[in-house]
Amino acid sequence: WLIMAKRSPKTAVTRFAPSPTGFLHLGHAYSALFAWEAAEKANARFILRIEDIDAGRRRPEFEDAIFEDLQWLGLAWKEPVRRQSGCMDDYAGALDKLDRLGLLYPCFCTRKDIREEIARAGQAPHGLPPHGHPNGPEGAPYPGTCRNLPPQARADRVCSGEPHALRLHMENALEQAGPHTWSDREKGVVASRPKPFGDVVLARKDIKTSYHLACAVDDHLQGVTLVTRGEDLFEATHVHRLLQALLGLDTPDYHHHRLLTGADGKRFAKRERSLTLRHLRESGKSPGDIKRDIRRMAGI
Ligand code: GLU
Repeated sequence: WLIMAKRSPKTAVTRFAPSPTGFLHLGHAYSALFAWEAAEKANARFILRIEDIDAGRRRPEFEDAIFEDLQWLGLAWKEPVRRQSGCMDDYAGALDKLDRLGLLYPCFCTRKDIREEIARAGQAPHGLPPHGHPNGPEGAPYPGTCRNLPPQARADRVCSGEPHALRLHMENALEQAGPHTWSDREKGVVASRPKPFGDVVLARKDIKTSYHLACAVDDHLQGVTLVTRGEDLFEATHVHRLLQALLGLDTPDYHHHRLLTGADGKRFAKRERSLTLRHLRESGKSPGDIKRDIRRMAGI
């Protein structure tokens, strides 16, 4: 199904894939400009994808603002815009395939259950921050509580409607996929090593997909040939490469760019209103000023 639905593979395609959970700031503008310029250089199509699976955090006014801010900056994209919340069937198809490969299992744990299990096992009981935890790229890896539930107990709990996520059985997935690499414009050929992520969630309890799954499926379906994004997402590419191998999806090239930082060396956060494109525009900056500022900050 994924192969059939794919666009023509001939044209090179880059993309900008923001989440409508805040106003775009200078860091986003850099990322968007980076993808747009990569497309210009390669005579490629530049497309826009709205990563809005997080129903609790997405807001329509942020999505409208993304269109408006990019237009103002002069970064035109090729239609149509793909909105992930409208593509759940594609993600369900991918999950179905992984399930048929025997690589998914339902996980009924709450965050608290996981924290407690990790503490019991004597590992760091620090919760699950999104990035940079010493024990794994997305926090401490899942301790495996639901991995070996007896099949009947598992089926009963699913049938009774108990909320559950779907996790990838990492060990079996690695065995089935075998070794893989991807090509990174900064780092060259990179061997894919997703193991430190542990049994990643591919379908959340509340939303039947996840960033990793949606991203790998969409990049394939949209015929993306070069993924440009911040280096904070470098590690995620290990998981995306594994999903590509398991699902038979195309592997684009990758270019993880440095993150823009302020004068204090810290990366920009969404909540810093003074750095939003909205605010900068209102305070009299032109698109040219913004692009100049970005180039100066990025040292390009
Ligand atoms: N939606 C992600 C973000 O806004 C970007 C994902 C990607 O480029 O792969 O951080």
